Amino acid sequence: MLDKQFFVNFIEKFNQYIQENKDYLTELDSAIGDADHGINMSKGCKAAIEKIEKSNFNSVSEMLKAVSMALMSSVGGASGPLYGTVFMKMAFTLNKENIDLKDLSNALINALNGIKSLGKAQLKDKTMVDVWEPVVNEFRSLIDKSKPLSDIKNRMIALAKNSMESTIPLMAKKGRASYLGERSIGHQDPGATSSYFFFKALFESLR
Ligand code: ADP
Ligand code: MG
Repeated sequence: MLDKQFFVNFIEKFNQYIQENKDYLTELDSAIGDADHGINMSKGCKAAIEKIEKSNFNSVSEMLKAVSMALMSSVGGASGPLYGTVFMKMAFTLNKENIDLKDLSNALINALNGIKSLGKAQLKDKTMVDVWEPVVNEFRSLIDKSKPLSDIKNRMIALAKNSMESTIPLMAKKGRASYLGERSIGHQDPGATSSYFFFKALFESLR
C-alpha cells in the first residue's frame, strides 16, 4: 500500500533532483525558451516542501492538493499550472483509503489527461507530454501484466530517460520553444527533463 509517507518521500526526492539540477534545467531553457525553467521549478518545489513540512495532513489527497496549490501560486511560467494540474488530478484520484499501484496508475493517467487538456500538446510536440504519455501508458501495461515491482521500476526510469532524450531531434509545436520553429531542433526539452526527474523520484520511492 502507498501511504502518506511514500508520497512525502517522493515529493522530497523530486525536490532534491530539481534543486540539484536547477542550473541544468535553466540552461536547457536558455537554448529554446526564456531561461527560467530551473528557477520556476526550484521555486515551486521549495514552496511545496515548505507547505508539507508546516502542516499535518489527514490524507494523501489533502497533501497532494496543498502541493498543487503551492506550485500554482508560486510559479509564473507555463510549468506552474501544468505541474499544478498534475498534483491536483492526483489528489482527486487518490481521495481514498488503501492506495495501491493501480490507483497510482489511474492518478498518473488522469494527470496526463490534465496536462493535455490544459496545454493542448500532443505526442512529439516537444513538451513534457513526450515523457508523460509513454511512461504512463507503459506503467499501466506492466501493472496489468503483474510484472515484479523491481522490473517495473527499472523499466520505467529507463523509459523516462529515453523519452526525455527523444525530444532532442523534435521541432517544438507548443509553448515558448515553438516560436523558434526549426531552431528548436537539436535541443532537449526542459519540461520533458523535469518530468524525467519527476518519474525518477516517483519510481525510486516505490518499494
Ligand atoms: P515558460 O515556457 O512559461 O517559460 P517554463 O520554462 O517553466 O515555462 O516551462 C517550459 C516547459 O513547459 C517546456 O519545456 C514544455 O515541456 C512545457 N510546456 C510549455 N507549454 C506546454 C504545453 N502547451 N503543453 C505541455 N507542456 C508545455
Ligand atoms: Mg521558460
